Amino acid sequence: MEAYSFTDTHAHLYGEEFADDLDEVIARARAAGATRIFLPPTDLRSTESAVKVCSRYPGLCFPMIGIHPEDLGEHPEDDLRAMEERLQGPHPFIAIGEVGLDLYWDTSRKEEQIRVFHAQIQMALRHGLPLMVHVRNAYPELIEALSDYRGEQRLRGVIHCFTGTLDEAQALLHLGHFALGIGGVVTFKKSTLPQVLREVPFNRLTLETDAPYLTPAPFRGKRNEPSYIPYVIEKLAEIYQVTPAAITEATEATTCALFPLAWETEPS
Ligand SMILES: [Zn+2]
Repeated sequence: MEAYSFTDTHAHLYGEEFADDLDEVIARARAAGATRIFLPPTDLRSTESAVKVCSRYPGLCFPMIGIHPEDLGEHPEDDLRAMEERLQGPHPFIAIGEVGLDLYWDTSRKEEQIRVFHAQIQMALRHGLPLMVHVRNAYPELIEALSDYRGEQRLRGVIHCFTGTLDEAQALLHLGHFALGIGGVVTFKKSTLPQVLREVPFNRLTLETDAPYLTPAPFRGKRNEPSYIPYVIEKLAEIYQVTPAAITEATEATTCALFPLAWETEPS
């Protein structure tokens, strides 16, 4: 497959799934055209793991900081305080993520999830950082939460692994400077995402793997990694009836506008 220039905006490369062969995964990513890879942790411990991995690949890998709605832990308020402290002074973080709402498995902490999400949105606004938003079975709640910041110019980020309806896409895109994160799901045979995306301009999309999860066809079932992003690019080119280069240029420009800190470091 041809090499394109792209950013994988969402890859959990700090996970144990990549502990044995990360150098090779990174080499394949570069060969496939990855210029940048963003690492979204899910709690404070994985935040430090992400920082450590990114320090091995400066100019290519960039960490975020955040508490995932499924990883609230025992004392989320303490973690939020620690997060705020970590953001004081110089830090390597390009975004707050992944954060959001997940009412798929467990709805018992819904109110707490919403509270922690608001705290992290406000942290993002205070520190001028974009959000990497996770949402599952909670689009109405998410839209309601973000609506509190309507008109806030600094509100920006990615709705990661977007799989909502056209109405939900349009509501989210009107709420602030958001892009829809698109990955392997768009290549799945039964996905309704292509229909929705035809109504969304492709300069409102960003590319992502969610590695090691959500591997695109034809590798479904295998571990996902950034070098598979070209399969997503080709699928998007087919959906929009444009060249793959048109997709990479538009998504790269959108990613740069949303995550400017990742463009301030010179590639190594
Ligand atoms: Zn993720």
